[in-house]
Amino acid sequence: MDRFSPFPEGMPEGVRALPRDARGIPIPWFVDCSGGRPDFRVVDGRKLIEGWDRDLCWICGRQMFAFRAWIVGPVSAINRCTAEPPAHPDCARVALTQCPFLSDPERARDATPQTGVRPGGELMMRNSGLTSAWITKGRGGEMVTPGNGMLFRLFEPHAVEWYHRGAVASAEAVRAGFDDAAGRLREADRRHGPAALDNLERRITACEKWLV
Ligand SMILES: [Zn+2]
Repeated sequence: MDRFSPFPEGMPEGVRALPRDARGIPIPWFVDCSGGRPDFRVVDGRKLIEGWDRDLCWICGRQMFAFRAWIVGPVSAINRCTAEPPAHPDCARVALTQCPFLSDPERARDATPQTGVRPGGELMMRNSGLTSAWITKGRGGEMVTPGNGMLFRLFEPHAVEWYHRGAVASAEAVRAGFDDAAGRLREADRRHGPAALDNLERRITACEKWLV
């Protein structure tokens, strides 16, 4: 957890300005602090709405610019759906390379939130260690409200950067993580019949072009 110290060159100003916890680790804007101290595993549900409505960075809480980065794993990339609003690309890169919950999948698996909103429906499926910054120009997505909560539907990206266990992913790691996610989705959709599987295969194919 002390990988934040010393701060690397180029740390975004918004992240530098964040309050720190007792260990000196910046507390992302979205983190729930309602218990008197930050719980990094739990999202402050009010920030979900506020961040999206006011077009603020999910990580530093400052105003967005032209480009946004949605932090999504391969399952979300294939499904074009995520539970978390976007961040500044530079803030997302800091999170993807230094946040223990994103860069260490074993840790993420243990991180069961106790209260508040679960930080992303894909947490349990990130065990390949592959995550991405899904870079969009403009808002890049829209909020949808299915029966069980609130999600964001992702539009076609401007670019996709893949990360594996806290570093830029190798082509092999991207392929392995993507194939693992596709396999899990095929398994899950099998019970929904051939039409659902056809639809899934189209989504998988559409995502393939963003693998390199
Ligand atoms: Zn930011």
